[in-house]
Amino acid sequence: MDAEITIIGAGVVGLAIGEKITGEFSNVFLIEKHSTFGQETSSRSSEVIHAGIYYPKGSLKSKLCVEGKRLLYDYCKKFDIPYNNCGKLIVATSEEELSIIEEIRQAALNNGVDDIAVKGKNEISEIEPNIFAIRALFSPSTGIIDSHALMKQYETNTLNNGGHIAYGSEVTGIRRIKTGYEVTLLDADKTTYSFTTKILINSAGLTSDKISEMAGMEDDNLKILFCKGEYFRLNPPKNKLIKRLIYPVPVQNIEGIGIHVTIDMGGGVKLGPDVTWLVSNIYDYKVDASKQEAFYRSAKKFLPFLEKEDIVPEMAGIRPKIQRPGEPLRDYYIMDETVRGCPGFINLIGMESPALTSSIAIANFVRSLIDKSGDSK
Ligand SMILES: Cc1cc2nc3c(=O)[nH]c(=O)nc-3n(C[C@H](O)[C@H](O)[C@H](O)COP(=O)(O)OP(=O)(O)OC[C@H]3O[C@@H](n4cnc5c(N)ncnc54)[C@H](O)[C@@H]3O)c2cc1C
Repeated sequence: MDAEITIIGAGVVGLAIGEKITGEFSNVFLIEKHSTFGQETSSRSSEVIHAGIYYPKGSLKSKLCVEGKRLLYDYCKKFDIPYNNCGKLIVATSEEELSIIEEIRQAALNNGVDDIAVKGKNEISEIEPNIFAIRALFSPSTGIIDSHALMKQYETNTLNNGGHIAYGSEVTGIRRIKTGYEVTLLDADKTTYSFTTKILINSAGLTSDKISEMAGMEDDNLKILFCKGEYFRLNPPKNKLIKRLIYPVPVQNIEGIGIHVTIDMGGGVKLGPDVTWLVSNIYDYKVDASKQEAFYRSAKKFLPFLEKEDIVPEMAGIRPKIQRPGEPLRDYYIMDETVRGCPGFINLIGMESPALTSSIAIANFVRSLIDKSGDSK
C-alpha cells in the first residue's frame, strides 16, 4: 500500500485527526483540494468554544463538546493559541422566556454542564451594563478562540509528526480494493493520479456525502443540505460596549441558536448567524444587505443601544446539514463503515457546530474507531 491512513479534508476536523493519527501511525496522508487549510466552513465560524449546553443528552454532539471544550482549553494553554474564556450570557427579555431559561439550565445539567448560574437583573448589569435582560444564564466555561492559529498548530504538529499533506489535490474517485482503497486525485495542474491506502477517513465537510457515494455508499438519509448563516458586524465604537457572548433564548427545534452577539480575539463584535437553507448546494457566501432590518430587530431586544446604521454586512458560512428544514437537530454521523461493506472507511458527515470546539475529542473518537475497524486488525 502507498499509504497506511489517508484523511480527506484539511478543515479543523481533518487537521485535528491528522495530528492525532500521525502521533501514532506512520505513512499518513492528508488530502486537501484547496491550496491551504481551512478554506471552507472552518474559516467561517463564530469561533466560539461552546460549553455543550443545548445538545440532546447522550448524543455525540453533547458528549464530544463537553469533552472537547476541556481538551481544547488545555491545548490552547500548551501551544499558546490565543483564546479568551470570556463566558456567555443567555438572556431572557420577556416573562414568557423565563420558563425556557429554566429548561436550558436543566438541559445543561443533563449534559454534565454543571457550572451554569442564574443571574438576576442587578447581577447582569454588573457584568454587562449595556444589555437588557430580565434574567440570564451565565455559562463561565464558554469562550472564544483564534481558529486560524488552532488550525495552523494542528497542521504544524501533523507535519512534525511525519505526516504528509497534499494541498491542491481533489479526490475525484474511490475504488474498494482487496486491501483497502484506491483513491484518484485531480491535481492543481489538472493531472490525474491514483494511490492506495489501507484506511480512508472522510472529513470532507460540505461534500463528505459525495466522498461517501464515491465509495459506493449512496444514502438519501445522509445527503448534505447547505444551510447558510450570515453575519453583520457591529461598527466601532459600539463594539466596546460588549465584553462577553450574548445569546437570546433559542426557539424550539432549532436549526441555529438564534441571532446572537459574538466577540472575537481581535476585539470585533458580530451579530449572527441567521439560518437560510440554500435551494441547491452552491457555495453562496454573499451577505444580503437587505437583512439589516431583521438583524437589527432581533438584536435590539437585548442591545438597547443599537441603531440600525451600527451594523454592516460582514461574512457568511455554510452548515453541512443532514437534518432537513423543520426537523429536530440530527447528531453527527461518525462511523466505521465495515457494516456497509467498506471496512477501514471512516465517514464523518454532518460535522456542523460545535465541531470546532469538539475537534480534539472527535479526533480521539475517530482514533478509537480505527482500532475497531474490520481491516485494521
Ligand atoms: C456559520 C457557522 C458558525 C459556526 N460557529 C461555530 C462555533 O462558534 N463553534 C464551533 O465549535 N463550531 C462552529 N461552527 C461549526 C464549525 O465551523 C464546523 O463544524 C467545522 O469547521 C467543520 O470542520 P470540517 O473540517 O469538518 O469541515 P471543513 O472546514 O468544511 O473542511 C472540509 C475540507 O474538505 C475539503 N474537501 C472537500 N471535498 C474534497 C475533495 N473531494 N478532495 C479534497 N478535499 C476536499 C474542503 O476543501 C475543506 O477544506 C460554525 C459553522 C458555521 C457554518
